[in-house]
Amino acid sequence: MEDNKLYTCAYCYKEFEPKRRRVQKYCSNTCRSKAHHARKSLGTELSTQTDKLATSNATNVKDKMTLAGIGNATAGSLIADTLKSYFTKNENKPATVKDLNMLIETLQLRYHRIKNGTPDVMGKYPYFDMLTKEIVFM
Ligand SMILES: [Zn+2]
Repeated sequence: MEDNKLYTCAYCYKEFEPKRRRVQKYCSNTCRSKAHHARKSLGTELSTQTDKLATSNATNVKDKMTLAGIGNATAGSLIADTLKSYFTKNENKPATVKDLNMLIETLQLRYHRIKNGTPDVMGKYPYFDMLTKEIVFM
């Protein structure tokens, strides 16, 4: 009885009578080699794509990582994280102007140093005040 039990081909899913019990997974050599090639080429394709992706990501990151960019990226993720935790904590309360001002001040985003501005007679640097939209020297 046991000897007549049919196996299912692991490639074409047809039932077949195995010539070698327990070791034969495929109905024929054709299926065995097709399955082997399919597995091999799929693996190669995937790893190639992963390599390409990793390479392009690394290149992009490197390109963007100028000295100025590092500060911006850090500030960007800091803002995102802080906003998220801030609004998660207070999600049922509407944010007031005071809240927002506090948030902006906390993030030190209110004053932006104007890079191409020249210092005043007191040697103070110009900053753009995000709240009043005015240039201030400090
Ligand atoms: Zn087969």
